[in-house]
Amino acid sequence: MDAAPNVDEAELAKFSDLAHRWWDPDSEFRPLHQINPLRLAWIEGLTGPLRDRAVLDVGCGGGILAEAMARQGARVLGIDLAEKALKVAQLHAIEQAVQGLNYRLASAEQLAAEQPGQYDVVTCMEMLEHVPDPASVVAACATLVKPGGWVFFSTLNRNLKSFLFAIVGAEYVLRLLPRGTHEYGKFIRPSELAGYCRRAGLDLQATRGLEYNPLTRRFWLSADTSVNYLFATRKALA
Ligand code: SAH
Repeated sequence: MDAAPNVDEAELAKFSDLAHRWWDPDSEFRPLHQINPLRLAWIEGLTGPLRDRAVLDVGCGGGILAEAMARQGARVLGIDLAEKALKVAQLHAIEQAVQGLNYRLASAEQLAAEQPGQYDVVTCMEMLEHVPDPASVVAACATLVKPGGWVFFSTLNRNLKSFLFAIVGAEYVLRLLPRGTHEYGKFIRPSELAGYCRRAGLDLQATRGLEYNPLTRRFWLSADTSVNYLFATRKALA
C-alpha cells in the first residue's frame, strides 16, 4: 500500500453510502445511466469493437460503464476504493450473468505498479474530480495501458458556467445529484487535463462535451466542453 495514497476518504464515503442505489435508474445515479450509451458509443467509435480487448475501468463505482463494456465482449476489470460500490457492482454482474467482468478493490496507482502495459483500453470517467492528485491517476492510467492503447477520461470543467450548471443547477435547482457531490475547486480545466496527459505520454486524439436539457431531461454529446467533457487519448507506440 502506498504510504500516502491518493484518496479522499470523505469522497469514498459518499459513494459507499449511496451504493445500494447505483442500479436504480431514477436515483442519484440517473445521469450516469443516461450518459452511458453516449460515452460507450463514443469510446467504441474510436477504439473499434471492444470484443476480446483487455479493458480497465478506473473508479468504476457500481459498474455502469464496466458492465456495458463487458456486454460488448471486452474482458473488463473494474477498480474502485469504495468497498460497498464494488460489492454492488459484483452482485449486479452475477445477477445479470455478465461474462468477462471482474472487480477489485485497488487504486490506479497500486495496479500500475503490478500490471504495467497490460490493457488495450483504460477508462476513467467522472472520477478525477474526486481525488486529491488527479495527475497521479492520469500517470497511472498511462502506465497501465499498452503502447498504442487508448485512455479515456471524463470530468467537469472549472469556470462560472460549470459552477452554475454542475453545482447550483444539478445539486440545488434540479436536484439531479445530492448536495455536496461535487466541489468546485476540484474541477479540472481541459487545458490542465491536457497537461497531465502530455506529461504522462498520452496524446490527445479527440474531445467531446456533454450537454443537458433540463426540460427534456436529455443528454447529448457536442463540441461544447464548458461543463462536462470527455478526452480520448492514446499512448505512443514504443
Ligand atoms: N466511473 C463511474 C463512477 C463515477 S462516480 C461512472 O462514470 O459510471 C466516482 C467514482 O470514483 C466512485 O465510485 C468513487 O468511489 C471513485 N473514487 C473516488 N476516489 C477514488 C480513488 N482515489 N481511487 C479509486 N476510485 C475512486
